[in-house]
Amino acid sequence: MPKTSETLLEIDLGALEHNYHYLRSRLEPKTKFLAVVKAYAYGSEAGSIAKKLETLGVDYFAVAYVKEGIALRKAGITKPILVLHPQTIHFNKLIENYLEPSLYSQKVLREFLEAAKRNNQVDYPVHIKFNTGLNRLGFSVDGIDEIMACIKDRDEIKVTSFFSHLAATEDLNEKEFTLKQIRAFKKRIQEFEEKLGYSPIKHILNTSGIINYIEAQFDMVRSGIGLYGFGNDPDIDQLLQPVVTLKTVISQIHKIAPNESVGYNRAYSSDKYTITATLPLGHADGIGRQYGNGKAFVNVNGKMAPIIGNVCMDMIMIDVTDIECQEGDEVVIFGKKPNADQFAAFAHTISYELVTGISQRITRILKD
Ligand SMILES: *Cc1c(COP(=O)(O)O)cnc(C)c1O
Repeated sequence: MPKTSETLLEIDLGALEHNYHYLRSRLEPKTKFLAVVKAYAYGSEAGSIAKKLETLGVDYFAVAYVKEGIALRKAGITKPILVLHPQTIHFNKLIENYLEPSLYSQKVLREFLEAAKRNNQVDYPVHIKFNTGLNRLGFSVDGIDEIMACIKDRDEIKVTSFFSHLAATEDLNEKEFTLKQIRAFKKRIQEFEEKLGYSPIKHILNTSGIINYIEAQFDMVRSGIGLYGFGNDPDIDQLLQPVVTLKTVISQIHKIAPNESVGYNRAYSSDKYTITATLPLGHADGIGRQYGNGKAFVNVNGKMAPIIGNVCMDMIMIDVTDIECQEGDEVVIFGKKPNADQFAAFAHTISYELVTGISQRITRILKD
């Protein structure tokens, strides 16, 4: 890649391929793979990511909302797409685009049955979600009779899958809780399949579940963050490759005398002769104020430079006193070093929040 001359989010499809093969290699060959591409494929670019994953052979996609599923269909994605959190007002559009809803409550189930009937559907694929302890979305553990009462004698829908979501797969201190969730899921499957009379796809694991609870892979796994290069564990990060790199360029260099200040509200003041560089990105781009005032470091010609003063809307300033650099040089905010996990940790957050928060103002470019 040539050095950048503006702020860019580079998307490495080769890294995506590597991560997919790595995660796949941990699974039984018959286990299906659902790629989670919600929130613009974790802040990157959902269309290109999904197309690449489709050619690699993923079985399923998931997004959070109907709008995201429609965008994938427009990008030419033909594999099934599960919508994890559909809003009932969009059910007609969901059906029009052949997206598959997660049905997680009695109300949502009833409204979907009506929508399917209105649209003359038979055996429309739906996914039933159970709450096993995350307490976010899902039918309660004793909801099976209610579901059966609702769907028996109805041919509008067919239960394609049956799933739940784990609360703490990355935290081995919560192993007991996670195993309890998995046991509750298993019990529900048995009961449900008996009453239903057929056997839907079953799935519960996310990325850290694939890493730590592979015995619960059932028929399919759902991976998001791992595909983008992170495993919620520095050892796993070593085996994966970051898909996105946020790069920018030095706009201007200033030589600051002792007792001068830098940026809004004079938050930084120099106690010695200091050289600063101004970069063209800020909190409007997803690098929030929490990264300012010495908390975070970026990579300038292989050396780490702290962000100084307050992060502005469209700019940040860094201290490059001890780094050889000039106006026009490339700066890596996060990518390989620091990686998104490490950069996020500067502000006590996680890679998920950092990468999904990179604003649409930043141009995405693809690298094969
Ligand atoms: C976002 C999400 C996932 C993906 O989780 P990762 O930790 O990114 O692998 C899986 N399942 C559900 C229900 C989700 O909401």
